[in-house]
Amino acid sequence: MSARDPIADLRRIAFLLERANEATYRVRAFRSAAKALAALPPAEVAERARTGKLTELAGVGDVTARCVAESLAGEEPVYLRRLVATEGSDLDVAATDLRTALRGDCHTHSDWSDGGSPIEEMALAAVELGHEYLVLTDHSPRLKVARGLTADRLRRQLDHVEQVNAALPEGFRILTGIEVDILADGSLDQDEELLARLDVVVGSVHSGLNDERSKMTRRMLAAIANPHLDILGHCTGRMVSSRPAGVTGPGDRGHRARTRKESDFDADAVFAACAEHGVAVEINSRPERQDPPKRLIRRALEAGCVFAINTDAHAPGQLDWQRFGCERAARCGVPANRVVNTWSAEELVAWAVDRPAR
Ligand SMILES: [Zn+2]
Ligand SMILES: [Zn+2]
Repeated sequence: MSARDPIADLRRIAFLLERANEATYRVRAFRSAAKALAALPPAEVAERARTGKLTELAGVGDVTARCVAESLAGEEPVYLRRLVATEGSDLDVAATDLRTALRGDCHTHSDWSDGGSPIEEMALAAVELGHEYLVLTDHSPRLKVARGLTADRLRRQLDHVEQVNAALPEGFRILTGIEVDILADGSLDQDEELLARLDVVVGSVHSGLNDERSKMTRRMLAAIANPHLDILGHCTGRMVSSRPAGVTGPGDRGHRARTRKESDFDADAVFAACAEHGVAVEINSRPERQDPPKRLIRRALEAGCVFAINTDAHAPGQLDWQRFGCERAARCGVPANRVVNTWSAEELVAWAVDRPAR
């Protein structure tokens, strides 16, 4: 007999989710599973767990079935352990620790595309914040509304960054990069030779955000399999209207606050591919984005992905928005060693070259 009661574990998870004010449908998954199992004799539950037939029961899904199996094996379910580890008052501490561990930012824009400030000013603000590096990721050609850089302009930017770097304080550097559009067929919107030359490549979907599920999934999977893609930017494309206290106004061109629902894609397939190819999932800190939502951060974590907590800053002051991303990451139990921008510039650049799967 197991030393743990799987039904009690499911209820405990539901309770902790409710207390953390998580979405009702997530709570319901655990409550329904607990109810379904409570209606059966314990021996049948154990037998179904042993033969993988728990999910045949109405109300029991893959996640809840895994919890039950772990519980019956006498282990605290991973899901529960993570909730317990991140519950309550030490969240602030966890978020602060994560923010302190960040050594740079992998998604930022200058006035070369739709940002409001010159590269030099972005860099100096990053130095002030204590960063060791800033990855400059202006937009790619197809994003005309954001003055995306043609191959020629990007080449000129690379020369310019070299000069700016020479004048910056020792111990800090601008890393080269791009926020490249993931095109309709999943290809990346910049010359291959240039993508290979950049230190870090963030890829994002900015068009056709309402594509139907299978099309969007195929598109994202093709981009993730591209050896040049290092970080998957704001993966759902959602825009939420709420802003944290103290943040007012749209703040920049091109990213005006408006609501937009999440793109529809097979998140398990996408995160499994990210884990397989070593592509980092971005936790975008912009208050109007908060992308991905927490439930997807948790799924990416379960899938074994690494993350990048980025600001997507379009102005120097916005470089301080990492705190918002850290809070969401901490709520989901993302450990610092799974966040690529807690690594040194050398480690980050080396990682981006061959991105070992985890
Ligand atoms: Zn973007
Ligand atoms: Zn951006």
